[in-house]
Amino acid sequence: MRLQGKVVLVTGAASGIGYAVAELFSKEGATVFASDIVSPAQAYPAGVQELTLDVTSEADWAAAVAAVVEHSGRLDVLVNNAGIIAYEALDELDMTAWMRMISVDQTGVFLGMREAVRTMRKQQSGSIINISSIWGSAAVGGAHAYHAAKGAVRNMTKNAAMTYVADGIRANSVHPGFIDTPLTNAQALELNEAVIAATPMKRGGKAIEVAYGCLFLASDESSYVTGTELVIDGGYLAQ
Ligand code: NAD
Repeated sequence: MRLQGKVVLVTGAASGIGYAVAELFSKEGATVFASDIVSPAQAYPAGVQELTLDVTSEADWAAAVAAVVEHSGRLDVLVNNAGIIAYEALDELDMTAWMRMISVDQTGVFLGMREAVRTMRKQQSGSIINISSIWGSAAVGGAHAYHAAKGAVRNMTKNAAMTYVADGIRANSVHPGFIDTPLTNAQALELNEAVIAATPMKRGGKAIEVAYGCLFLASDESSYVTGTELVIDGGYLAQ
């Protein structure tokens, strides 16, 4: 029960890493609000509250955080997890594809942090966890907009950590390597095999292995941790 009494909002919770976070946090005693633009294929565990939240919508963010506060009186943890990926290289990227990626993977995090901070400042406490990627601090070829968004999330997190440190709000980014989820399952097999082959542990990670890192950052065990990057990648970035 490492999150007993905590009120948590998770985005993109209907699948993959977000679902694992919602499930684990609920098991650890948190009141979990699991949000997404779709419902999960497998129902959320009993006690998890389902919310519809498109992270690109200011109105959705305002309504979701208001619903959490109305129900539970506070918001202790925000996990900005919702994300999409696309592979266009710089010279192939049109404005529509660029804007779509930036609006979900970067603007979604901005809107979420902004809304959460407004409540967390009143409480003088809170933990924000932003899911970036190994491609937020290193690069492969292609996927230009994804790198842009995930790199921005890394530094937006540090800025939030510095801006609100005196308000008792912590903000940290999480940088998964290859994780076996519907997002990666939808990708070309050769691409996945190449990333796994380049991973020292020679396997993909599981969503729960990322969720356990988020659990530490959500809990009071990480009370002296802010502005940091938690890399969960089977050793990829250590090379
Ligand atoms: P996933 O596709 O399984 O889950 C992503 C969820 O986000 C989906 O349920 C989807 O409906 C939701 N979503 C998409 N657009 C949304 C929007 N506008 N508003 C709200 N929800 C929206 O993917 P995943 O692998 O679990 O990825 C979760 C996060 O982890 C993403 O930010 C992704 O970039 C990041 N990540 C994943 C990996 C990996 O290998 N799987 C690696 C590094 C980082």
